[in-house]
Amino acid sequence: MKRKDALALDRADPFSKKRKLFKLPKYKIYLDGNSLGVLPKASIARVKHLVEVEWGQDLITSWNEHGWWNLPQVIGDKIAKLIGAVPNSVVVADTISVNLFKVLSAAITMRPERKVVLSDSGNFPSDLYVAQGLSRFLTGKVDLKTVEPEQIAEAISEDVAVVMLTETDYRSARRHDMQAITAKAHSVGALVIWDLAHSAGAVPVDVMACDADFAVGCTYKYLNGGPGAQAFLFVNPRLQQSAVPALVGWWGHANPFAFSIDFVPADGVRRFQSGTQGMLNMVALDAAMDAWKGVSMERLYAKAVKQCAMFTELVEHQCGEFGVSLYGERNFHQRGSHVCLQHPHAYAVIQALISRGVVGDFRAPNLMRFGFTPLYTSYVDVFDAAQHLHEVLSKRLWNKKKFLTIQSVT
Ligand SMILES: *Cc1c(COP(=O)(O)O)cnc(C)c1O
Repeated sequence: MKRKDALALDRADPFSKKRKLFKLPKYKIYLDGNSLGVLPKASIARVKHLVEVEWGQDLITSWNEHGWWNLPQVIGDKIAKLIGAVPNSVVVADTISVNLFKVLSAAITMRPERKVVLSDSGNFPSDLYVAQGLSRFLTGKVDLKTVEPEQIAEAISEDVAVVMLTETDYRSARRHDMQAITAKAHSVGALVIWDLAHSAGAVPVDVMACDADFAVGCTYKYLNGGPGAQAFLFVNPRLQQSAVPALVGWWGHANPFAFSIDFVPADGVRRFQSGTQGMLNMVALDAAMDAWKGVSMERLYAKAVKQCAMFTELVEHQCGEFGVSLYGERNFHQRGSHVCLQHPHAYAVIQALISRGVVGDFRAPNLMRFGFTPLYTSYVDVFDAAQHLHEVLSKRLWNKKKFLTIQSVT
């Protein structure tokens, strides 16, 4: 493939006009939108309005006048469309870790006679920590059991209360079969929680079609909500009247402004809200969701698949001799929207790339991760990134003290 072929793909790309909706850093090839999505131009004006008018002038009346109070549900309904959820089943609040605590505690309570929370050893560590924390809090009434990702289906047995998994692996990009695993769990009476952090806005997801019980996900990655933007959670309408989280608060009360001293859960997914949310993040996310208007996840995913395959092919062809190889899932039709490469000096290589304006990230112990966010990643970005990687490796440009020193955020 030549650079002009990549440019031709960009000219024919139906998503190329979406790229204009984002403020992309000049002279940078940003392949880290799977960790922190770029700034949507619409969010700039929306945050400015919030600060100057809503907070600056209208103050407390903004909860009603500017719709602050309902934003968690309004945005939830926008996210619902991307993950196959129905209206009123998704709410935006807190972080994934906190939301996972909420849905996991609710699920455990619904299966009081069972002892096991089942997950896999490739899951995002924070998810496992939340389950370990709950297990300690419940003094061993439930235990977290982790197996290899490939062994999940066979490990689902009648003592399992909850199966808790991340659909798209943050390193290998392998995707679990949501439909099959959910069906298997239901067949033995277990509940299922899906973490969609690397799925929402990246791959087609249909929580209703696979009848997922609960889901959580991130908005600052593929959804471009901004640093620290609130996460989302989904509760299947089938469970909305019976599921109650252990972490509740006044925002989830049936009648919060009655200020009664007893907790009465609100109807539906609203009961999974706890307390006041940061509106600066919330409005930035609300505006960011406009970029998804008219986007077919199937078509967007087709572009992601093409970009992941193109990058892998270029890298294997040009850089294979320099000790770099694909890590994880090779089947480009059943994987997430990022590519992980392994290299003994992965950290230094990533630092050298960043110094040249190609931004990916390092994941311990020896992985370089490149996220393709096809709403704004162009084919020529993919092509150029592979060329830079070739230069850095073939000329050993990574072999410098400043690139070899590890910083606190990788
Ligand atoms: C990014 C990510 C998280 C982040 O959790 P927070 O509590 O929102 O920081 C959780 N799970 C997975 C799988 C992730 O990729």
